[in-house]
Amino acid sequence: MGRAVISFLALLSISCGQENKPTIAPLPKGATGTKVHESAINNPIIKDVYTADPAALVYGDSVYLYVGHDEAPLDHHFYKMDEWLVYSSADLVDWKSHPVPLKVTDFKWAKADAWASQAIERDGKFYWYVSVEHDSVPGKAIGVAVADNPRGPFVDALGKALVTNDMTTRHTQIAWDDIDPSVFLDDDGQAYLFWGNTQCYYAKLKDNMVELDGEIMPVDLPHFTEAPWIHKKGDWYYLSYAQGFPEKTAYAMSRSIGGPWQYKGILNELAGNCNTNHQAILEFKGQDYFIYHNGGIQPHGGNFRRSVCIDRLYYHGDGTLRRVVMGSQGIQKQEY
Ligand code: CA
Repeated sequence: MGRAVISFLALLSISCGQENKPTIAPLPKGATGTKVHESAINNPIIKDVYTADPAALVYGDSVYLYVGHDEAPLDHHFYKMDEWLVYSSADLVDWKSHPVPLKVTDFKWAKADAWASQAIERDGKFYWYVSVEHDSVPGKAIGVAVADNPRGPFVDALGKALVTNDMTTRHTQIAWDDIDPSVFLDDDGQAYLFWGNTQCYYAKLKDNMVELDGEIMPVDLPHFTEAPWIHKKGDWYYLSYAQGFPEKTAYAMSRSIGGPWQYKGILNELAGNCNTNHQAILEFKGQDYFIYHNGGIQPHGGNFRRSVCIDRLYYHGDGTLRRVVMGSQGIQKQEY
């Protein structure tokens, strides 16, 4: 636009009695450029404690973030996780912590390991599916807790496990395959639970959300390790998951939640300073986001002291996903 035209527009603005304020037109949704007035280091998003295995739920005008609490002391070279935490945010930048909503000890039948989880809302109740170590059935198990609001406190909804290791011995004999639940409510009201390590599984949930409905089915995905996350965008179902080890996040797409799934390759690269990779995918206020964890808090962050981060996610026109660009700046308050 030439200077003469700008001057003319300025004159026109003044002559019309409007305020002559500079304005910046936002780029269209999905544009590649990120322009920020003041950039901050916003990743990891939780800096006072170590957090891992993120799941997110959009409810009202906020995002609720459900994570495991990494509590491993410096001389402990494995996971130490006894409780889950919940945070909320209306802008994905400022996060509010809430009282501890759920612990392993809230499940009388469990004895350890507050591993990966996901929460969902149905008919005004909040159901939180979690991985734990079972006390009497050897191996990992999936439990479900319930609350009247997304912050909790949550209580055991069943008084027993929803899935135990002995229910899924047809496809693998390992004791840790029944972890990492991902829950999904389809447009027709049918709910599904996906989960797995080494072998991915899915099953329908009854409307009460605390009972499986029918058979547990295997899902065959290339190099599946763990951390399935099921979501839908438009007419496509997406099943993302941790692939290989150390883990990258890969994904597959299908027109049907029952498959067949078309493998689409890597969605997120190795997370920094951390051999696991665990994703949540959400749309919030018209934009798409990818939540994950890394070992980014130094000097003590790493495989067993992880931290949750958020970056933007973009879809191509054909529904495929652009590979995530992980960044220390993360989400900024003013983003165009
Ligand atoms: Ca099993």
